[in-house]
Amino acid sequence: VEAPASTEEAVLAGGPKTEAGKSLIQLEGLTKVFETEEVETHALSNIHLTIRQGEWVAIVGPSGSGKSTLLAVLGLLDTASRGTYLLDGRSVLELSPSDRALVRNRHIGFIFQSFNLIGDLTVFENVELPLTYRGMPAAERKQRVERALEKVGMAHRARHMPGQLSGGQQQRVAVARAVAGDPLILLADEPTGNLDSKNGEAVMQLLSELHKGGATICMVTHDPAHARVATRTVSLFDGRVVQDEQRR
Ligand code: ADP
Ligand code: MG
Repeated sequence: VEAPASTEEAVLAGGPKTEAGKSLIQLEGLTKVFETEEVETHALSNIHLTIRQGEWVAIVGPSGSGKSTLLAVLGLLDTASRGTYLLDGRSVLELSPSDRALVRNRHIGFIFQSFNLIGDLTVFENVELPLTYRGMPAAERKQRVERALEKVGMAHRARHMPGQLSGGQQQRVAVARAVAGDPLILLADEPTGNLDSKNGEAVMQLLSELHKGGATICMVTHDPAHARVATRTVSLFDGRVVQDEQRR
């Protein structure tokens, strides 16, 4: 028997409205195995992790420890092999690819190390695109894009193409794109990794302001100083959580 196709409304129907301290992300026994013909890699092994509304979590660990895989699963860019993932109380791993994309687009803001802006769209259009996918009316899109670009100090570059901007400016636009839709959580995989220290600090300052404004953030970082800015540090080693330090 096939499960009935879910309507967009059913997929996106929220639980209770989010409130401070409420658990936004809950992973139970999450395992991710990459299988190729020769080898099986346990990128994530039996991860239990709860992220609450308003937290700023830094994910740290050596190269290959599973940080990017964890973030990709949290961001619904990848699936898991075993375990459960509740996003705002809703089980999301068994969703169909199209429903998963719907939930991702509506509830997740993702910031990549390499910015990932679309080169032949303007700054404005880049920030607008996820809102368009969501079916938001043009007038509301315009308002949201302008507000997001103002938030990151890039309103004066709305008509520029990404290639006309510095790396630091591109990452600010990527942050605007990630927050324009008011996601439940902001995920960032080494957001300062491709930036010099001055631009890196500017992006950290921006994340700091978003956090003060109530945003929930989960960020992969190599930089111990950046991890210390977060409210909590989760350390991975060989696909396992080996330390979980709450700072405040
Ligand atoms: P980190 O971000 O901490 O450096 P990753 O999450 O990228 O680590 O990788 C964790 C492990 O999973 C590594 O051993 C890596 O080689 C492996 N891995 C990651 N992505 C893939 C993939 N698409 N196919 C096969 N193995 C992968
Ligand atoms: Mg990585």
